[in-house]
Amino acid sequence: MTALTQLSLVQMQAGLANKEFSAVELAQAHLDAMAANRHLNAFITETPELALAQAAQVDAGTRTGPLAGIPLGIKDLFCTDGVQTTAGSLILKGFVPQYESRVSANLLRDGAVFLGKLNMDEFAMGSSNETSAYGRVISPWHAAGSNADLVPGGSSGGSAAAVAARLCAGATGTDTGGSIRQPAAFVGIVGIKPTYGRASRWGTIAFASSLDQAGPMARTVTDCAHLLTSMCGFDPLDSTSLDVPVPDFAAGLTGSMQGKRVGIPAEYRLDGMDPEIAALWDAGIAWLEAAGAQIVPISLPHTKYALPTYYIVAPAEASSNLARYDGVRYGQRVLPPGGNVQDMYAATRAAGFGKEVQRRIMIGTYVLSAGFYDAYYTQAQKVRALIARDFEAAFKRCDVLLTPTAPSPAFAFGAKADPIAMYLNDVFTVPASLAGLPAMSVPGGLSASGLPLGLQIIGRPLDEIGVLNAGLAIERAAGFTAQP
Ligand code: GLN
Repeated sequence: MTALTQLSLVQMQAGLANKEFSAVELAQAHLDAMAANRHLNAFITETPELALAQAAQVDAGTRTGPLAGIPLGIKDLFCTDGVQTTAGSLILKGFVPQYESRVSANLLRDGAVFLGKLNMDEFAMGSSNETSAYGRVISPWHAAGSNADLVPGGSSGGSAAAVAARLCAGATGTDTGGSIRQPAAFVGIVGIKPTYGRASRWGTIAFASSLDQAGPMARTVTDCAHLLTSMCGFDPLDSTSLDVPVPDFAAGLTGSMQGKRVGIPAEYRLDGMDPEIAALWDAGIAWLEAAGAQIVPISLPHTKYALPTYYIVAPAEASSNLARYDGVRYGQRVLPPGGNVQDMYAATRAAGFGKEVQRRIMIGTYVLSAGFYDAYYTQAQKVRALIARDFEAAFKRCDVLLTPTAPSPAFAFGAKADPIAMYLNDVFTVPASLAGLPAMSVPGGLSASGLPLGLQIIGRPLDEIGVLNAGLAIERAAGFTAQP
């Protein structure tokens, strides 16, 4: 029999339904894989007792639902009732929420089994998982003929590494500027960020509230569709939650692109683009055309302003959101001897926040300061509107957009020591985030060095089905079966 950890989520559902194996056996197989792969550092907290107890309930028939018995990992940005939640930060070390985030609660409601909390860049700030206070996550992949450790991408790098290494059937991720799509691309899995407002932000630790969206990461498009259906839904506790019905995303999948128009944005073809990435993009265009799509050249003229806009808006919101970590209400407190409350704030935040988080707080505070607010923040909001308008115009002429997910395959630790070089890795993912659009990454193939490369599909607001369907067409054509 194939190892249980090799099955897709859909195959696990079938095997459980046919009693080919029990939920406890399935959970145990994944717990064993986690134990054998601790060097990846994918989990911050493992919850084996909880997982086995939940699986036993599935076997006893007292825990049911569409995801009954499916072993999942949860990014450590989602508050989990009774289980430490750190956001990858020292400042939240030991923080045990007394409530469950809406997204993880939805998955539990549907019968999922939680294996533990996945490592991530601190407060979801990063593209490589090098900023976690709990140590970096190592990708299960290596370049051909090399032993050098590679980054799994970020910020959902623990989720990406765990799914790719078969430590869980799927995982939750969050995407503010690419943190589901870029790590999915780096490790050869699928990840989708739904339309802003589809998945509740309630109980998910905030980074940049106008951008943050949760979404699933899994090994197939169909697996992602099942998880997405469970994770989404209106939530009155999130003021930006969309009160619209959630379709059964998996039921809507056909993989046919007949009658669909696929836009190819000229501005994403960067000067000096890696030829392998350009070749993969061309292959993706040919695959969608072969699946019946009409290819339409598109222009998104404000694309070049997306990165600078994102790196003003996101730090601005982060500086405000992170003001709550003051040593009074959550997690760590550092009280210098004889210090007053101001000294405590300063000492707590200096000790609790890592360098990248401090950098973002300083940038954010600067762009929101009275003297610079109009020059930076107001201007960024205006440009953000123009970027959204570019997409609106494009979607009059096409149904989905196809682009590469990232400008390179996974890189080595320390390769992007300069923060600007790191930020540039988000060039293809941030525009859809600024516009609040659904976007996904699907594996397209391997680089010459044997590393996964991803293709990105961006869709109209609320057209996750259109995005997933184009993803399925690529998945079928690419036939990506490579494993770390
Ligand atoms: N890499 C981007 C950043 O560092 C995106 C992070 C994210 O989507 N959470 O802000």
